[in-house]
This record gives sequence, structure tokens and C-alpha cells, in this order.
Amino acid sequence: MDPATPDNDALLRSHGLQVTAQRLAVLRAVAGQPHSTADDIDKVVRAQIGAISRQAVYDTLGVLTEKGVLRRIQPAGSPARYEDRVDDNHHHLICRSCARMVDVDCAVGYTPCLTAADDAGYEIDEAEVIFWGRCPDCTKNSNTTKKATREENIRG
Ligand SMILES: [Zn+2]
Ligand SMILES: [Zn+2]
Repeated sequence: MDPATPDNDALLRSHGLQVTAQRLAVLRAVAGQPHSTADDIDKVVRAQIGAISRQAVYDTLGVLTEKGVLRRIQPAGSPARYEDRVDDNHHHLICRSCARMVDVDCAVGYTPCLTAADDAGYEIDEAEVIFWGRCPDCTKNSNTTKKATREENIRG
């Protein structure tokens, strides 16, 4: 057993999953870079263990998400992202310019967003909130960037 990953071993087993090198590598990749896309994770995993197909990485992400080991976030108009912070229904901020995604806790207290004003009789287990805007870096650079883009468009 790899002594560097005892927690992930236990994590997989506690979700009823067999411990495999592929699953451990995918977990490490997501933990090291939360909110990565499947493509990003694929690159990291293949750099680590080499002998794994792209499809296997995608399948592994699917299984880990289905079992609740990972959480999948699907922002409108962009590829799905994966993270290992799964148990608190936190929300996300996404930058429209550079697509950087960061965690943001529930607006008030602990998972209150699961309490809808009117649940219409549904049994609610997830609330997906994505705040869209621009990150501080992009806000800072926005004037110069906008100008450059406009100039490019004129030239092109
Ligand atoms: Zn940005
Ligand atoms: Zn997150």
C-alpha cells in the first residue's frame, strides 16, 4: 500500500469502492487542483501514472462522482468541473473572463440554501448556486484587455 495515500484508501472503501491506482491518481489530481475540468485531470493523471486511457479517467470521474466521493459542478456554457469538497453544499464564484472558479460558503450559515422558501412538496438534497462575475485580477486588467481586444478586432 502506498503510505502517502492512507486517507484516500479509506475514503474509497467507505464509499464501497475498490482501491485502484487509477482511482487514487484521479483523487490526488482533483485534491491538488480543485474545480479542474476532466481534461485537466486527465493530463495530471496521465503525467503521474502514464498507462491510463482518457476514457478510463473520464469513467473514473463518473464513478467517483456517482458514489459521492467527488462533486461535479456544471456551469452553463463550460465544461464540468470536479472537486473533493463534497459534504457542505457550498457554492461557487466564476470569473466570466478567465473562468477561474472559487468556493463560496452558503449565503447564510450552514447549508441553509437547502431550505427553499417553497419546496412544492419536493425532497430537496442539493442547491446549485453559481455567482458569475469577474475576478479581482480581471477587473484590474479589464481596461487594458478591452482596449487590446478592440484593436485586434479592428486589425483582424
Ligand atoms: Zn478572471
Ligand atoms: Zn467548490
